[in-house]
Amino acid sequence: MSRPDIPFPQSPVVPTLLDESHVIRFQCHRGVKCWNACCSNIDISLTPYDVLRLARRLDLSTSEFLARFTVPYELEKDGIAGVKLKPVDGGTACRYMVPEGCSIYSDRPTACRYYPVALLSMRKQDESVDRQAYALVEEPHCLGHREPREISIADYRKEQGLPEYDELARGWRQLVLKKKSCGPTVGKPSKRSLEFFFMACYDLDRFRSFVASDGFSEVYDLPPDELTTILEDDVATMQFAFRFLRQVLFGEMSVAMHADNVERRRARAAEQRSRLEREAAERLAREEEGGGGID
Ligand code: SF4
Ligand code: SF4
Repeated sequence: MSRPDIPFPQSPVVPTLLDESHVIRFQCHRGVKCWNACCSNIDISLTPYDVLRLARRLDLSTSEFLARFTVPYELEKDGIAGVKLKPVDGGTACRYMVPEGCSIYSDRPTACRYYPVALLSMRKQDESVDRQAYALVEEPHCLGHREPREISIADYRKEQGLPEYDELARGWRQLVLKKKSCGPTVGKPSKRSLEFFFMACYDLDRFRSFVASDGFSEVYDLPPDELTTILEDDVATMQFAFRFLRQVLFGEMSVAMHADNVERRRARAAEQRSRLEREAAERLAREEEGGGGID
């Protein structure tokens, strides 16, 4: 009775791929006998835009929302950080489920909007653009499939407000697909790179502080107007995070850098590294000297 793990389903079963013109028979409304059954046992992956909408809805920073109401996981075992909605303490139900339905309906996550359709973002090794296909998830407990309404997947997506959600998660999906298509040649990313991906994708308030820091301006050369927009507008922050990650992870140079400052910082870092190494060597030598005199 779980919602599918959209947008990157991990089921080993290969679904029948459908396009937007495919017509499904489905309707969910309060009159169905299974009302709220799907929200009683959740497995919901969140997109960065879902996190942003939910955090703002609950009047929390993204850091607070992530810490209190999500669990991290590894997306597709490719070393890509993902987050899932945490169910109620000690249970499997969604904490936003109320007898009337969803208490955060206008900000519900992408996976809830799609159900019972699953979005499958794909990219072939030899293609540079991603493609979307869909699948229908038919779980026995969901009686919405027995309702008499027929609707195309395109119209269902519009009804559920998905064009906006998908457009705003596009940059993130492309990052994930690109990482997946790089495969094992690129290897498993370091813990630090995973943490940075997590911060830039999901913890946008922390990413914003990073962009506002002196250290960032010392290295990156953003026009002042653009920087102001990035710092003041949530969606602009998020889109910039995706752009910045493309540069950091894949070397796509889309954010200008101050060449002199980059060199200065490199030199400073090298100097600091050799100072630390020198200090460690001196400490070891002192310990060696003092170590032999006890017995
Ligand atoms: S967020 Fe709303 S629609 Fe989604 S599982 Fe929770 S209660 Fe159900
Ligand atoms: S019809 Fe399906 S989606 Fe609607 S409440 Fe029932 S189980 Fe959930």
